[in-house]
Amino acid sequence: MANLLDSFRLDNKVALVTGAATGLGAAIAHGLADAGASVAVHGNRRAATETAAAIGPKAVAFRADLSSPTGAEDLFTQVKEKFDRVDILINNAGTIIRHNADEYPLEDWMTVLQVNLTSVFQLSQLAGRDMIARKAPGKIVNIASLLSFQGGIRVPAYAASKGGVAQLTKALANEWAPKNIQVNAIAPGYIATTNTEALQADETRNRQILERIPAGRWGEPNDIAGAALFLSSPASDYVTGTVLTVDGGWMGR
Ligand code: NAP
Repeated sequence: MANLLDSFRLDNKVALVTGAATGLGAAIAHGLADAGASVAVHGNRRAATETAAAIGPKAVAFRADLSSPTGAEDLFTQVKEKFDRVDILINNAGTIIRHNADEYPLEDWMTVLQVNLTSVFQLSQLAGRDMIARKAPGKIVNIASLLSFQGGIRVPAYAASKGGVAQLTKALANEWAPKNIQVNAIAPGYIATTNTEALQADETRNRQILERIPAGRWGEPNDIAGAALFLSSPASDYVTGTVLTVDGGWMGR
């Protein structure tokens, strides 16, 4: 019988990780590379060259703006040209814009929905279509949020987009399970990244958050990488359509 740990290996796999210049995306890219994958690391304001350099020759940096309706196709085309295929797609890039709901500008709503939800659908469709045409197995992992379940305050577009990501995950999983393509999501709790710097710096909010987390600490990007590796590897071949919370116990409380 094969060693179970071998089913976590990603040798000869090509993974595309969006938003990999920083935070969760960078940690996930490192984790998948550790398991043997070649990784296409994507950045927006700049290509994810530092992540690629830290990983080494198995990583290549790309750049695309996913707030543009053509950004996903632009990125997928670049990655296909370089690697010829994508076996694992990690839809991690995301943005958050805060305003009171009654004043929320439509332009900001459209940006958040495009980056967090529409580009996730576009990239999943491009990758899924290609996997189906190649009759190849595949993995798609979407980075959702606790706001896939909860509404939040002053972030209606973010909550709507992440709720949509959870539902899209299930919709794609249902259609593609017979093709041996598993689609899952990770809902991170409060993770210390640039995205949450303002919350960490706010003494009151920081204390309230820590009091509510059973684990009693902020998560680290690496806390998400282990879950991402599981959902990217053959170890999870019978797991599809799930939204896995990685939150130090927040949702169970
Ligand atoms: P982060 O370091 O700010 O990462 C966000 C990434 O998304 C950045 O690399 C950013 O690239 C990219 N991005 C933003 N706008 C983009 C655009 N228009 N086009 C393409 N890429 C764009 O924060 P993070 O915490 O690691 O966030 C990663 C994911 O986790 C996001 O989907 C976020 O919603 C989710 N999440 C985070 C937490 C948390 O507590 N940190 C909790 C729940 C969910 P640029 O910087 O180059 O624009």
